[in-house]
Amino acid sequence: MRTRFAPSPTGPLHLGHAYSALLAHDTARAQGGSFVLRIEDLDQSRARPEWEQLIYDDLAWLGITWDGPVLRQSERTDIYATALRGPLCDHVFACHCNRRDVMAAAAAPQDGEPAFGPDGIIYPGTCAGLPAVAPSDIPTQNMRLRLDRLNPDLRLSFHETCFTDHTPEFSVSEFQRDIGSVVLWRQHYAAYHLACVIDDYAQGITHIIRGADLFESTQIHVLLQHLLGYDTPTYCHHRLITDETGKRLAKRHDAKSIQAFRAQGATPADIRHMVGLPRIST
Ligand SMILES: [Zn+2]
Repeated sequence: MRTRFAPSPTGPLHLGHAYSALLAHDTARAQGGSFVLRIEDLDQSRARPEWEQLIYDDLAWLGITWDGPVLRQSERTDIYATALRGPLCDHVFACHCNRRDVMAAAAAPQDGEPAFGPDGIIYPGTCAGLPAVAPSDIPTQNMRLRLDRLNPDLRLSFHETCFTDHTPEFSVSEFQRDIGSVVLWRQHYAAYHLACVIDDYAQGITHIIRGADLFESTQIHVLLQHLLGYDTPTYCHHRLITDETGKRLAKRHDAKSIQAFRAQGATPADIRHMVGLPRIST
């Protein structure tokens, strides 16, 4: 078993991150498996070295050890681009729309509200019929997932071990309707879904343990794994840690940051207690 924790260095880790990291770490260690770390710093306009350093400090303080080198996504742009030019080249198209174009096209002509999927507004297909881009010109500015070269009846699924209210099985036609042509590349860097799938494979992750907020996105990852010829790992989408009002913790919850708890004199055992994990790590 190999699990991972993959934070973005765009703010302090909070209790929700601590829960996710501890759960992935403890699960692997209990099985005699390994645990690796990945820094998801694709968006260099938001990533900061001081936040990355704080991730290392907070995890070490929590008693989390990671195996092997840390993988940093900002150093892997060429690897993601190679996947787009290679196995994915028949399944992408260049998109020239900005956000406003997508909003306008998705709302017209039914004059309704645009439909939303797990990756935002479901792309209305504006650029899907444009001439294909030569592989040597990929990636261009923005690239989206092309679905019309897949059998619409193809069914894909994944094994979910934690969050079992939903049936994790879907067809390509359901994916087209509910999720659509998601962005795989933005201007200068890979989009989250593409980088995440390539890196989970590169890091040999067998069990992906992450928050239930990503459950719906997993269909995107499973479809990309299919197109890239990767095996689909086992998934555990865990419960989310919330604040006193029941709202999911976000980067804005600085009062719930691990840094703040450390400054107040909390111990790693206190953090485990707060997120409902057993006191002693196995
Ligand atoms: Zn477009």
